[in-house]
Amino acid sequence: MNKQVLQLLEDFYSQKLLRKQIKAATNKLDALILDLSVSYACNLNCKHCYWGDTTLVGNPLSLNEWKTVIEAFYDQGCRHFHFSGKESSLNSQIPQLCKYVKQLDAGNFCGIISNASSNLPFFEAVSNDIDYLEISVDGLPEQHDFIRGAGSFDKMEHNLKQLISWINPEKINLATSLYQGNQSCMPELIFRFSSLGITKFFASPILPIGHAKNLSHQLISNEDYSRLIQKTHHFLEESEQALNIYFCIQHHTIPDFWQEDAYLRKRFEQFLATGQNVEEKLNNSWLQFSFEFFDLPYLYQMVISPDGYVLPKPDCFHAKNYHELSLENISTEGLKSILKKRKSAIIQSISS
Ligand code: SF4
Repeated sequence: MNKQVLQLLEDFYSQKLLRKQIKAATNKLDALILDLSVSYACNLNCKHCYWGDTTLVGNPLSLNEWKTVIEAFYDQGCRHFHFSGKESSLNSQIPQLCKYVKQLDAGNFCGIISNASSNLPFFEAVSNDIDYLEISVDGLPEQHDFIRGAGSFDKMEHNLKQLISWINPEKINLATSLYQGNQSCMPELIFRFSSLGITKFFASPILPIGHAKNLSHQLISNEDYSRLIQKTHHFLEESEQALNIYFCIQHHTIPDFWQEDAYLRKRFEQFLATGQNVEEKLNNSWLQFSFEFFDLPYLYQMVISPDGYVLPKPDCFHAKNYHELSLENISTEGLKSILKKRKSAIIQSISS
């Protein structure tokens, strides 16, 4: 946890209240997102891929092992199951696992992340069992293909036009990894895809990990990001459409934005006062923010690797020794014992 962010939190809440909040989230799993990184296959080789050249150290879990993991987390109170990995649509277990999540409890929240540029029938197979589908779109054709490879935009757009006949566009959000080349095309990108009925757009800057270490000259600065947020603000004020645009403010950037961006600072204060993600109504649209104030391992997210290791965040996959960063392997240790280790890891991270 960034010391300056911790200081901001402590200034705002008092140490006692902050620790009480963290303890409450540690003891329950109802706010947890369980990131099931089931798929280890991908059809692309993106320039910003956080997996980098990492290879699996163990054997992928079987369908029954994944079901056991889902049920164990469900029994402990987890209700949000997020299927990621490399490319979800290339994994034949995921449609069955989504079904299983809903069989356990129709109220469970279930979503998938995909590049949408390969196996189209997959989306029909999952259509009844998912609450959201996040599709990665890194700009218009030129900017997207620069990151994801020639022809990938056309395949993604073609598939997207097909899959909206199975999945309600209101359940789809497009997620953009921002770099210098694509930040100015956001309004055009939004215009292009909102004409298909898509209303939700997420954006977050690329982090220099995995393959993206080679993109350091393309990373956007905090000033660029501030400008993009302001331009989007104006764009929504003028737009008649009903859109939801969602920006992520990454943990390590919070101290600088706190000092240098009066608009964001007001939103930070609003977030700290309410504990809720901040949103602003602009004409018919919403401008929304997620602020990564709490960067405590395992607190709000737990990631299971394709071979069963329990990790604090997907970024860990850029490390070739990712298994050494894990709490344990879920196929060799019971969840109750793993949750005890989780609690110790959270306590240790705020004490150190
Ligand atoms: S970023 Fe996603 S789609 Fe691109 S290579 Fe990595 S796993 Fe595949």
